[in-house]
Amino acid sequence: MADFEFSAKKLPLKLFINNEYVDSKSDKKFSVYNPKDEKLVSDQVPCAGERDVDEAVAAAEAAFPAWRKVPAAERRDILMKFAALIEKHVEPLAELTRVTLGAPYSSFGKFEAGMAAEAFKYNAGWIDKFAGEAYPQENGFMQITRNEPLGVTAGIVPWNGPMGTVGLKAAPALATGNCFILKPSEKTPLAALALGPLIKEAGFPPGVFQVLSGDGSTGALLASHMRVRKVSFTGSIPTGKKIQKMAAESNLKRVTLELGGKSPAVVFDDCNLDNAVTWCVNALAANTGQVCFAATRVYVQEGIFDKFAEMYKAKLEERAKTIGDPDQQDTIMGPLVDEAQFKRVSGFIERGQSQGTILTGGKRVGDSGFFIEPTVFQNVNNDAEIYQQEIFGPVSILNSFKTEEEVMKKANATEYGLMAGVFTQDINKALRVASDFDSGMVGVNCVSMMFLNAPFGGSKQSGLGRECGRHALTAFTELKTIMVNMTYQ
Ligand code: NAD
Repeated sequence: MADFEFSAKKLPLKLFINNEYVDSKSDKKFSVYNPKDEKLVSDQVPCAGERDVDEAVAAAEAAFPAWRKVPAAERRDILMKFAALIEKHVEPLAELTRVTLGAPYSSFGKFEAGMAAEAFKYNAGWIDKFAGEAYPQENGFMQITRNEPLGVTAGIVPWNGPMGTVGLKAAPALATGNCFILKPSEKTPLAALALGPLIKEAGFPPGVFQVLSGDGSTGALLASHMRVRKVSFTGSIPTGKKIQKMAAESNLKRVTLELGGKSPAVVFDDCNLDNAVTWCVNALAANTGQVCFAATRVYVQEGIFDKFAEMYKAKLEERAKTIGDPDQQDTIMGPLVDEAQFKRVSGFIERGQSQGTILTGGKRVGDSGFFIEPTVFQNVNNDAEIYQQEIFGPVSILNSFKTEEEVMKKANATEYGLMAGVFTQDINKALRVASDFDSGMVGVNCVSMMFLNAPFGGSKQSGLGRECGRHALTAFTELKTIMVNMTYQ
């Protein structure tokens, strides 16, 4: 580490293949900008092409036979050391993300980079416990199952949680004995590119954990590669569909898809109002609304609707006062990630003015950088664009409802199913509603949260498969059944 500096200026803008930083064989480069002031951070980020991907896959294939046989305790120690190294460098890693994502350290940057370290620790703990099964003998035969690694695997990650998503994918892949190629987002690739020295120092053998920066074309090369056996993808629904198609049309590689959301929060008259408002505000404002499981459709029962609306508006306006330079310690809300996202979110807000009425927000903050106020629309019909589509910014819809039956129909009436929240003091109602949500995850008196030890993922078009917990390890392994003839002499 001595001669390596974690700074956007000193970072080697190279691919990390076979434990070395190497120049890309493709001339294609892309640029990254700081969303707080729109200034160029670098125009020299390499975009890995076909020959780079082939080289990384070949290195991973060469490393796989030995890596899968590394004893559990040794593999655990490597993952634990990697986690410790991330923790040691959490501030500079968060800074590398911040200069392109704009996420303030105190409110998101520290959490996001720290989550990667936690994911490595959590999965390291599973290595010697992720056992197969043995079945009762039958007619002199016994069957045992083993969780076999898949071989060369890849993680294609989005820009909104560049380090957290590395932890969610690389940690279970490596814990189960796979080799792993990381493809960060072209919008926020710098922290991933800085991992090279940490990967080496932790003790991962060459070819086991590699990083290829690139755009969608690099992702497509991985998703359609004949010798990549699994792609774990987090990103948008349209890209997720393309990846599933490429996987099917190439080698039927395994696919995990963590996609978009338009998550409902259902707030009943009998809830603790302060608690409900606090969760809904945090859900919308965290990472400037660029969170897949953000509660962006808030349904409040008639009896408390006016009070909720007043408190939600006031708290969001308080939060809007914390919008500012993400490099400042007291900033809680940073900018949107880039100009494209800013135009996208602003476009939804502009068109939304004819689809509903604005309770709060709706305006740009400042005249440089991509800062935007948390924005709430009321009286929106459920066929409106802002009601149906994921905006991926701090924009929500606030609606009232009369009955549980009515609200559950509305809550479930989208193609998304990532997260939902119910706020009530009635445990029977909470559990009934939790069961009725068409959603991979439900919060009771909370929303838009996750734990590393519990399954994370969506139903309907929000995804396929689960991350976190034991399920993530399952998703990176193939069950093998071994039948033992015990009567054979
Ligand atoms: P995106 O789909 O545009 O890109 C995600 C990644 O896929 C990037 O690394 C990109 O380079 C790559 N990619 C793009 N086109 C590709 C192609 N044709 N083949 C292979 N790879 C390709 O998504 P984004 O804009 O980076 O992220 C925002 C989306 O991610 C939102 O919809 C959000 O809800 C979703 N998301 C979901 C979760 C979850 O866990 N469910 C978490 C975070 C973000």
